[in-house]
Amino acid sequence: MNNNTLTLAIQKSGRLSEGSLKLLKKCGIDIQNGPNHLKAKATGFPLELIFLRDDDIPQYVEDGVASAGILGYNEVLEKKRDVEVIQKLGFSKCRLSIAVARDVHYTGRDFLNGKRIATSYPGILKDFLADNGLTAEIHPISGSVEVTPGLGLADAIFEIVSSGGTLLSNGLREVETILHSEAVMIAKPDLPGQIRDLLEKLLFRINAVQRAENNKYILLNAPKEKLDEIIALLPGVKSPTIMPLAIKGWYSLHSVVNEDDFWGVIDKLKDAGAEGILVVPIEKIVT
Ligand code: ATP
Ligand code: ZN
Repeated sequence: MNNNTLTLAIQKSGRLSEGSLKLLKKCGIDIQNGPNHLKAKATGFPLELIFLRDDDIPQYVEDGVASAGILGYNEVLEKKRDVEVIQKLGFSKCRLSIAVARDVHYTGRDFLNGKRIATSYPGILKDFLADNGLTAEIHPISGSVEVTPGLGLADAIFEIVSSGGTLLSNGLREVETILHSEAVMIAKPDLPGQIRDLLEKLLFRINAVQRAENNKYILLNAPKEKLDEIIALLPGVKSPTIMPLAIKGWYSLHSVVNEDDFWGVIDKLKDAGAEGILVVPIEKIVT
């Protein structure tokens, strides 16, 4: 481990790769050679990337080959390595659910007792069954878990669901959601101080990017007598900026709105007399 460089493991190719590289890019970090190599040096930050299968990332981080890694929370839980989850990253969101054949009469979790459940996440499933006092036969499978009920190899499956399309096309129905997952940053616990500092710096950039993505910059015009009502609708970063327009009695108001309550706020602003509403994306919010 080089104390002047942060070594970060990311998925070589798969559903996390693009999101991971995109996030780094938004943090001002570019890489010289792509995932066709094992390693890449970054520009814009003292960072070295290692490209791995996501399954291998927890172990490499535990062993200190990489100081940190980006992977799905589901894989972190499954592998049970001694790593610390330090930040949710907001991409590659999915859920892990139990599904059964569409025509099966599912009576609740007790249905699973004594059944055969195929999964590529035997560890998470085992914990779920134990936590709920259930006993079932776990069939670990890597590959197309969804086809097993149709082939008579399992009574239920426990798998990743994103849109549910794969379940549907295999005649399956989701009956229990066990876990919500997204990409997370993991790190080796007790990293040397210098490396921890680098990681904190990277997290600072990631936070600025995430805050910006969750917010929009809003500009609008309003007559003076409506300003108080409009300001009350805008819980901005601090307080809104207000500037007089060339037309007497009219003002331009600038603020930041959260993506979550965005449309609700826009409707209320219009009702309160706001005009010429402009909404623009924010690149970074540094606080
Ligand atoms: P590898 O070759 O690296 O082992 P993999 O086949 O195990 O790859 P992917 O299919 O690329 O893994 O999925 C990686 C992670 O992306 C999953 O562990 C999960 O966290 C997330 N993920 C998987 N499927 C979806 C999906 N359909 N939608 C969103 N995120 C998903
Ligand atoms: Zn994998």
